Order: sequence, then structure tokens, then C-alpha cells
Amino acid sequence: MIPLLTSFLLKMCKHYHSPLDIVAIRFKCCSFFYPCYQCHEERADHLPKKWEEGDLDEKAILCTKCHRLLTIFEYLTCESVCPFCNASFNPKCCTHWHYYFGWILQTL
Ligand SMILES: [Zn+2]
Ligand SMILES: [Zn+2]
Ligand SMILES: [Zn+2]
Repeated sequence: MIPLLTSFLLKMCKHYHSPLDIVAIRFKCCSFFYPCYQCHEERADHLPKKWEEGDLDEKAILCTKCHRLLTIFEYLTCESVCPFCNASFNPKCCTHWHYYFGWILQTL
């Protein structure tokens, strides 16, 4: 189920294409996984709800390389390397974290 979901998710995203863009995130509003906030914007019929600081233990990040779920805390502290399979995540993603995580301020 999860491998199927991950290939579907990666094909869905037209916004980010680098080989490092391999994580999908579950949104608090609908519990659906999307590859990026723009995909949520295009496909969901509602505004996104951001995760809050009390949600750090939620398994909301999917590594599409190893199909494992990371908690938000694991993702934010992994320094762009999957703790399970050592795949590199896009380090620039942190400039988008404020779209997903309500307590993180926009970084320029
Ligand atoms: Zn997208
Ligand atoms: Zn949603
Ligand atoms: Zn992984």
C-alpha cells in the first residue's frame, strides 16, 4: 500500500522535481499525504491546516525512498538525511517549513 502511494504521490507533483524531493507530508486538516503544499492547494477543497508544536510526535512525513514514516520531530532534526535509509532530502525544504509547521517562522 505505501509503495503504491509513494509512486502515485511523486507523479502527482508538478512543482518540485529534483531527485532530492522525495518526502511527502500528511496534512493536519485532511490526514492526506501530499508531496508539497501547492499540490494540496490544487487538489484539496479546503485551506491547509498547519501542524502545531504539540504535534511533533505525529508520523506525518513519508520518505518515498524507504517508505517509512518519520515523526515531525525526526524530520525537523534529521538534517536532510533520512534516519532510516540515509537518502538525502532537499535541504532547501526548510525554506518552506512555515507552510506546514505553524510555529516555524518564515526563513528567507
Ligand atoms: Zn506539488
Ligand atoms: Zn487538507
Ligand atoms: Zn528513507
